[in-house]
Order: sequence, then structure tokens, then C-alpha cells
Amino acid sequence: MDNLKVKNIVILGGGTAGWMTANLLHKKWERLGINITLVESPDIGIIGVGEGSTPRLKAFFDSLDINESEWMPECNATYKNGISFKNWSTVSGYEEYFHPFPSGLDFVTFKFLYNNATLRRKGADVIAHPNRFSLMASLSEKKLAPIASKNFPFHFQYGYHFDSVLIGKFLQKKAAEVGINHIQATVENVELHSNGDIRSLKLNNDQLLSGDIFVDCSGFASILLEKTLKVPFISFSDNLFNDSAVAIPTEIDPNIPSQTISTALTNGWVWQIPLTNRFGNGYVYSSKYCTQDEAEKELRAHLGVLESDVEARHLKMKVGRAQESWRKNCVAVGLSQGFIEPLEATALQFVYSTIDEFARAFEEGGFSNQFREEFNQRMNMNFEGIRDYIVLHYKTNSRNDSQYWIDNRENKNISNNLNDMLNCWYNTQNLETELKRLNIGSYYSQMSWTCLLSGMGLFPPKEKLTSADTKTAQADLDFVDNFIDGCSMNFKPHEQMLTRGLS
Ligand SMILES: Cc1cc2nc3c(=O)[nH]c(=O)nc-3n(C[C@H](O)[C@H](O)[C@H](O)COP(=O)(O)OP(=O)(O)OC[C@H]3O[C@@H](n4cnc5c(N)ncnc54)[C@H](O)[C@@H]3O)c2cc1C
Repeated sequence: MDNLKVKNIVILGGGTAGWMTANLLHKKWERLGINITLVESPDIGIIGVGEGSTPRLKAFFDSLDINESEWMPECNATYKNGISFKNWSTVSGYEEYFHPFPSGLDFVTFKFLYNNATLRRKGADVIAHPNRFSLMASLSEKKLAPIASKNFPFHFQYGYHFDSVLIGKFLQKKAAEVGINHIQATVENVELHSNGDIRSLKLNNDQLLSGDIFVDCSGFASILLEKTLKVPFISFSDNLFNDSAVAIPTEIDPNIPSQTISTALTNGWVWQIPLTNRFGNGYVYSSKYCTQDEAEKELRAHLGVLESDVEARHLKMKVGRAQESWRKNCVAVGLSQGFIEPLEATALQFVYSTIDEFARAFEEGGFSNQFREEFNQRMNMNFEGIRDYIVLHYKTNSRNDSQYWIDNRENKNISNNLNDMLNCWYNTQNLETELKRLNIGSYYSQMSWTCLLSGMGLFPPKEKLTSADTKTAQADLDFVDNFIDGCSMNFKPHEQMLTRGLS
């Protein structure tokens, strides 16, 4: 690769996205002798929230050969089986449900859920609450970690909770160990070549930082992609109303939970994320429906925390995506590329897949723009595929306690795909077939769609149900209960797994 035109990559931004990008690109292209420099402003902070992940964070650390025993203790990290959604539905018996990460044993129990959910949609009085069919829900209920004992050879996907500031510091340390250049300065100006490519960043220490490829990790400011290259931002505010958050930490329960809890409040929802040293809590809401003070007051009441006890942190969110993630010689990663609100904690998964796919597209195209269009299309489809599933939570709520929830439910601005999926559910058709037809099953699977739709209790009302073949249904449930109980015995308490040689 002596003729390689790409010699210098410049990353703008030292938040989680910037440091993830630096480490991953170094790992991928170290053999090519490409220099990587990350510049971050000492005066502009990082967003400093974002403490839950999907299983893709494990894939990221695995790709860097970094073990849990190394990074988890440094980031106060815990294991995550999935997310419990509380009070999104007012349907009796469905006030709470669990959205698990996929496990290698789902095929044993979930077929009974799919069957019962279909029967119940048709009006049969059978149990179709997803928690009853999910091993991961059972592990969370018992505060067990998703790591099976060695003699139980099945694969379980899981996520993490972590301190977002500490994870940035950890990744910065790893980047320094492998020789990634780090500059602390603020970018004041961006200079372009005559063809519109970025030539260099002018820093406030008078340095001119040139590069062949620029990665915009500058957060919501999107300094390179949006401000310099003028890529339009496409807002999702039509169907995702939340634009603000307020965060307050609380004391951790000594018996640390292995799940995130998302509880619906009057004008949004609250995350509760367990770390080893504290709970992170945050109320995500829409400023159109409540003020900052009202949100903080409601969060404090929910947590039982006085103003004198601990300070609240208020944040603004820009929800939507860039029209394209890669333009000219610049690719945006992280908040500069776009953000779907944090309900399913998908942002870092996006960071990882963006860098991974960019590196592949760039290299396969001989380090040229050859596959830029395909890459941009894939990114846009990812955003929209994930967005639709997030919108589904709001669209299917049954709360009437505020205009916020009523407007969310009655909102007609939903995508055709989401509309088709809802019709499929209400018309008692097969979700898997519809996911295949729409080609969206790679974003969220039949398992996720069924957990949400049945977990919200979207069935004919109880008084209209007729008794089905209860004998068969009961025999199936007995099998599922016994199976899940038996499997659970192969997992250890979360607390124990967090201290097993991790420190
Ligand atoms: C309320 C909320 C909750 C969230 N929850 C989750 C979650 O549970 N899970 C999840 O995966 N994600 C979550 N996220 C998203 C997550 O926080 C971000 O995706 C992640 O932290 C990456 O941010 P970033 O690195 O893109 O931007 P930032 O952290 O904002 O970093 C921007 C960087 O750019 C630098 N910079 C900016 N301008 C300049 C300049 N002119 N010169 C030099 N440097 C500059 C800054 O100094 C900083 O280093 C959440 C986000 C919000 C708002």
C-alpha cells in the first residue's frame, strides 16, 4: 500500500464517539501506517450522559481485544439484560413489560409467546404477557447477571451500564497507549480545497491541522458536516417529540439490578441506570409540553430527592439525522451524525456500526469515495429502522393523564413501515412475514416487536375474550415456567459477577 493516498486522519471531538473512532480506526488500519490525530476543545465539554448500551458495545470491546475485567471496573460498569418499561400502558395486567436482549434459548420459549399472542389477538383468553416467556426477564427479576456458567453452552447477548465520562477517559488512555496523537485546542476555522474537500482545521493555538480524511465527532454542533459542508439536518420532531432531559444521580441499591428501568411520567419518561457506585436517572421530556422547572420538580418527586440534596443537570437534544453521514472527505460519527432519543440506548451501537461500515466501505473502494452513496443509504435506513421502533412505544401508549401522551398516541406522522406493522398486528397477521416483506427485521426482530406490542396489552378487551383450549395453553405455560426456572439456575447473582476477579 505504498501508494496509499490517505496518510492522515483527523478526528474532531473527544467525546465517546471520538475516542471509539480513534481506537477502532487505529485497530483496522495500523498495518497501513496511517496517522490518527484527535483534537478536542478543553473549553467545550462532552455531553457526559449516555450510560446504557446494547450488545454492540460488547462487540466493540471484543474487536479491540479489551476484556471486561479491564474496562468494566474502571468505568463503574454493570451488566444489562434489557429494559423494563413501566407505566407506558394503563391496560390492567400490562402496566409493565420487559424488552430483553436476544438469547440463544429464545427459540424454545418465544414460539409459545408468538402462538399465544396470535390467539389473544383473535380474542382467546390465553396468557400473552411477554415476561412470562423470557429467560432474560426472569434473570432481571432475580437480579442475576447474563453470564451463564461454563457448563451451560448457550449464547446470550447482553449490554452494559457505565459512566460515560469514565468510558471516554478509558478509551483515551487506550488511544495514548497505541500512539494516537491527541491535541487539546479549539477549532476556530475550517479551510477547504478548491474541490470542496476539507483541507485543514485552524486551531486557537495557531496550529493548522491538515488531513486526508476528517471524522466529525463534534457532538450536536456538527462543525464539519453541518456547519462547514452544509449537509442539512433532518429533524424527527414530527414523530419523536422529546427535545430535553434533566438528570439527577441517586444512591445505588446494594443489590445492583441487571436492567435499565424506563418509567413513563406526565410528559415523557425517566431512565434509571444502575452503575456500581450510583443510579443515573434522567427525565426525557418535550419542552413543548412542560417547562424545565416542572420537569425537574416532577423528577425530584419521582426519585424522592430534595433540591438541597443534589444538583440537577439540564440538557437539550437535537433528534434527527444528517441528510447524509459522509460528504466529500468527511464522515460524521456520534451526535454530529444524528441522534434518536435515548429510549432504547442505541447511540453507541450507531457509533460502532458507523465507523465499522465506513472503514469497510472506504477500504473496499480502494480508499476512495466509490461506495459513499451505498454507505449513506445504509446509515439512513439504520436511522429510520431504529426510529420506527422507538416511535412505536409512544404511538401505542394508553395514558390519558396529559396532552403529551394523547398527542403521541394520536400522531398521524408515522412512517409507512410503522403503519404497516401496526396494521399487521391489529389484523392478526404474521409479524415475521411482514418484517421480511418490509426488509426491516435487522433493526428489531420479531421478538422485540412482539414484546412491545403484547407487553403494552394491545389485545381485545378482557370482557370480549372467549375461553380457548386452556388445557393446551396451560401445559405450554407449565413447560415454559419449568424451562425458564431450570435455565436460571445456571446464572449467578449480578453482584457476585461484578466482583468476580473484575477488580
Ligand atoms: C439525554 C441523553 C441521554 C443519552 N443516553 C444514551 C444512552 O443511554 N445510551 C447511548 O448509547 N447513548 C446515549 N446518549 C447519546 C450519547 O451520550 C452520545 O452518543 C455519546 O456520548 C457520544 O457523544 P459525542 O462524542 O458524539 O459528542 P460529545 O460528547 O458532545 O463530544 C463532542 C466533542 O467535540 C468537541 N468539540 C466541539 N466543538 C469543538 C471545537 N470547535 N473545537 C474542538 N473540539 C470541539 C468537544 O470538546 C467534545 O470533545 C444520550 C444522549 C443524551 C442527550
